[in-house]
Formats: sequence, C-alpha cells, structure tokens
Amino acid sequence: MNSGHLVVILILFMLGPRAILVAQKCPICDSAPGAEQYRVRDQFSGEEKLICGQCMLLKERCFLCGLPVKNGLTRLRDGRVFCARDVNDVVLSDDDAKSICSGTKNELARIFSRFVTFPDTNVVITMVDRVHMDGLFESAGFDRQCPSVFGYVKSRIVEGEKWEHPISILNAVPKARLMATCAHELAHCWLKENLSPDRDLDRDAIEGFCELVAYKLMDELNEERGKKFIKSNLYTRGQIQLFIEADNQYGFYSITEWMKYGVDHRLQEEDLDRVRKTEPRLRQPAATAVNVWSVAQAPALVPDTLTLLGLSGSGANCMVLINDRSFHLNESGKVRYANTNAWVRCIEIRDDSVVIQVEGAPERQELFLKAN
Ligand SMILES: [Zn+2]
Ligand SMILES: [Zn+2]
Repeated sequence: MNSGHLVVILILFMLGPRAILVAQKCPICDSAPGAEQYRVRDQFSGEEKLICGQCMLLKERCFLCGLPVKNGLTRLRDGRVFCARDVNDVVLSDDDAKSICSGTKNELARIFSRFVTFPDTNVVITMVDRVHMDGLFESAGFDRQCPSVFGYVKSRIVEGEKWEHPISILNAVPKARLMATCAHELAHCWLKENLSPDRDLDRDAIEGFCELVAYKLMDELNEERGKKFIKSNLYTRGQIQLFIEADNQYGFYSITEWMKYGVDHRLQEEDLDRVRKTEPRLRQPAATAVNVWSVAQAPALVPDTLTLLGLSGSGANCMVLINDRSFHLNESGKVRYANTNAWVRCIEIRDDSVVIQVEGAPERQELFLKAN
C-alpha cells in the first residue's frame, strides 16, 4: 500500500463516523441537528443518543431513560415524567403490578426451590408512588443519597415468634424492574428469617446477595436489560459483581451457607474462595432489626428554585414532594435547591398546589404543580 492510499483511508476513517452522526436527526425534536450536539446515554435502552442543543435545554427528563422530553409527555401525579416511548413500558395499573408480584413469587419458588424457601403468606406487598416512597425512606431515618428508589421492606416480629414483612414497591416501573425489585425484597425477608443474630454482615454484602437473587431471576427470564441494570448499579460497592462470580464458581448453595455461617463480613475480591469458610452459629434470627434498602439510579439534579414536584394521597395521608424532600402537612424540613438549602414548613396542601413558609422569608408562598 502506498502512502497516498493510506492518507485517503485515514481521512475516510476520520470522516466516516462524523458523516453518519451529522445525518442523524435529533431523536427528541426530530429535526436536523444544528452545530451543537450532545452525546447522552439513554438509561433505559443503554444506547448513546445525539441530542441537539435546543432539546438539551428542555427542563423535563423522562424518569426511565433520563432523556429530555418534548412531545407526548406523560406526567404522573407524583411528579414523574415519562417520554412517549417509555410510558408504554411501565406498568401503570397497581392491580396489574400486584399480580406481576405474585407471579414473581411463583417464579422464585420454581428457580430457588432447591436452596431456599422465600417467605410467602406473611408478606404483604403494597404499590406506592414516588412521594410515598421518599416519605418512607425519611421516616426510617434512611440516609438518602438519591431520590430514585424502587423498593423498601420493614420486617418485624409480631405475636411472639412470627415474622411479618410489609414490602413497598415503587409503582409505574417496567415489568422486569418490578419483578427484580420484588425478588430483591423477598431476599431481604428470607435473610431476616434465616440469619442468626451473631452473623455480622456488611450492608453492601446484604444488598449484594439480594441483587444476586434479582439477577438470577432476570437471567432465568432472559432479561438482558434487567441484568445489565443490576450489574451497573454501584450501590453494593462491587459486592454484586463478586456475588455473581461466586455463584458461577461455587454455586448458589455455597452462597446461602456463607450468608448464614460465613466468617467474613463481605465477599473478598482478592480471595473469593473464602466464601467456603464458615463457622457454627446460633440458630435464632434477630428479632428486632429494621431493614431498609435502595437501588440508586443516576442521581437527579435538584431544581434551581423551590418546586412542587408531586402530590400524593389524600386527607391526613396527603404528602407533597418539594425538590428533594417530601412533606406531610405541618411538617418542616431542609430542602435543597440550586447550590443552597432552605428550611421549609408545609402550611397547606391543596389539590394542585402547596402553601409553604420559608424560614427568613416575609411571606408564605404557594407552589403549583406544573400542568401537562
Ligand atoms: Zn432536538
Ligand atoms: Zn424515556
């Protein structure tokens, strides 16, 4: 090959991808992109998209894909927004969601029957919206690092020895994610009933185990997207990857034994074989522990101003979401906005607005829920 050929090939190589990119329309507004384009990851499909500068300025972001939404926006009462594509993928009816959850129980029983029996009749699953989910995390004293969470369980002992597991699951999510959340929470319930009080596990390891159960369910259902989502979650600080690896190398039974009788607090990357190191323990599980978990998505930005993002429930149960914090009536708390905080008191909750008093401000103000 002479050097002339090489130069031509190099030029084509450099121009090629760019030529293709220029020909693409912005998927949000469907018009030919101008000079400015931004590469943005579609968090639902995993694809990279080229968004025009105009669309990048749009305020609304789809809860699922994280992309700006211009046309065909659907807004739930709790403030979540979905793009026209993704709204078709989420389970909007709570009844449908509940029957998917009971289907998940059956599926788990089938997959794991050789190793574990998940609690069943003492589990109560409730679908909740985002405002309520956020409220649950606050009431449990959970240190919330991220406003997007999918599930929550608060296991407790009732009537002497009997466990009860009230599970709350975020509504309006895709079917596979709903099933994965369900599996994750049921794994927590199983741990509650089966771990001895002297088994000292890291929280990351507990979450890693529950994510593994969800991952194996996704694998069984050929849900590649669900598997990817679980693997890409950073909140187990690497434990989920080690659990998947240990499951491949030693099998799920070894993992359940390690959870119950293991010596270490977490799986060791440098010596995964220690998953086989166990010691005898008391049999009785702890009776009083409270258990909280979260799955983190990409952290959402807080608005620049105090903004009513959602309303939920009715009567005494009514709650509002203002920026990163939810409030019951008469509740006060710190709200983040722009780069600062405000101390806010919730004075009155109306049909589509809330009256608040900001500390230091001369007057009350009313925040309205944005119309569609
Ligand atoms: Zn555009
Ligand atoms: Zn979307």
